[in-house]
Amino acid sequence: MQDYQKILNNIHKTLSQVENKGEVANYIPELAKVSKDKFAIYLNTINANNFEVGDAETAFSIQSISKVFSLAMAFANQGNKLWERVDVEPSGNPFNYLSLLEREKGIPRNPLINSGSIVIADCLVSSLENPKEDFLQFVRDLANDQSIDFDKKVAESEHKTGFRNYAIANLLKSFGNLENEVETVLDFYFHQCSIAMNCKQLSNAFFAFANQGICMGGNACLTATQAKRINAIMLTCGFYDEAGEFAFEVGLPGKSGVGGGIVALLPNEFVITTWSPGLNDKGNSYLGMKALEQFTTQTKSSIF
Ligand code: GLU
Repeated sequence: MQDYQKILNNIHKTLSQVENKGEVANYIPELAKVSKDKFAIYLNTINANNFEVGDAETAFSIQSISKVFSLAMAFANQGNKLWERVDVEPSGNPFNYLSLLEREKGIPRNPLINSGSIVIADCLVSSLENPKEDFLQFVRDLANDQSIDFDKKVAESEHKTGFRNYAIANLLKSFGNLENEVETVLDFYFHQCSIAMNCKQLSNAFFAFANQGICMGGNACLTATQAKRINAIMLTCGFYDEAGEFAFEVGLPGKSGVGGGIVALLPNEFVITTWSPGLNDKGNSYLGMKALEQFTTQTKSSIF
């Protein structure tokens, strides 16, 4: 087996000396309060070995990484019917882009951009008895950790400033692709994005995607086919308009969030999570991208 601890330590040390050109997201005021100096990596292998370096047990706002969890829950509940309301093509556009949605008549390109995730949120609001609580429980079960929670301050902060998401939800509603009220769906969406998790909890929660749908606790959270399809969507759509660049540099399915987290995985092998809040101009963690590039290069573990 490779000496993962040594590899992670070296990557962390090398990158801690590099100038961090990223900027912390400030369009959600509560996120701007996080220090740019935080930097962590956590690796969880399929045979249950784990390795960490840096602030791997400090919680941060998972933001768009939550879109994978809501997609998984909706897909597990509704199966292929889901694809009538959202497509599975990369968008090549920023996460909160509006004009494509107008052109494509309210069918979002994929479930990992804001418009697609807002449609998924609508599906969950329609089908769950207590949508926010049931979703949180799903994430806790995926991670096998009952302490995970929403960060109400972050949800409230986005509620006050989420003007583009209101525009997206209203456009979806005008095309008949939102069953519930805009306010109800966005309340769910802002809460899902506000969930606070650390690198360890995220790696544990993504274990099911690397493990044919069987989660950390041993339950089948998804079918193997569903896990396969979600990994494919992560690979092609998980990094906003930088999905090509991530495949080129890192070569793994994954998902980033504007809180500075990135989770990536090699099916049947491992899950790796990085956290560094400084974002590049596409909204992906500047050091996180570099750390993952070095990791897959040094361990020869890209899927390509
Ligand atoms: N809640 C954020 C938004 O909708 C998520 C963005 C992200 O992490 O990409 O703007």
